Amino acid sequence: MDVRPAFPLPDTAWKPIHEFWAGAAEHELRIPKCDACGRLCWYPREKCRHCKTTSFTWQTVSGRGTLFSWVVVTHAFLPQFADLVPFAPALVALEEDPAVRLATRIVDCDLDAIEFEMPVEVTFRPISFAGVDGEVTAPLFVPAR
Ligand SMILES: [Zn+2]
Repeated sequence: MDVRPAFPLPDTAWKPIHEFWAGAAEHELRIPKCDACGRLCWYPREKCRHCKTTSFTWQTVSGRGTLFSWVVVTHAFLPQFADLVPFAPALVALEEDPAVRLATRIVDCDLDAIEFEMPVEVTFRPISFAGVDGEVTAPLFVPAR
């Protein structure tokens, strides 16, 4: 299998999700909103999963949410993660629609203090990986202040 040299950095140029990364670079959390039914649709897809419309407008959301799920990774299962462990990949349910859950990482938090449904808010941080050139500004989450 061919892997992009920048893996696991996200491919920010990939069209279906480019606006998400462009927003992050400007410290805005942007999610596609269906032009017909008005619901947020994440992950981006061709048709709204509620009403099958194919037209979306990217919407900037508050960046507030609650923690839906997480794990604490203590072993670097890829060499690129060596500098990161321990870390906490997570799914965050957005305030605007808790059915919209963003794959992210919890930071600035005692990993043992993470709790189900705790309020969190977005922060924008450069992410990089051991042995991989470049960095990408990504929406990560911290405990809500
Ligand atoms: Zn729709």
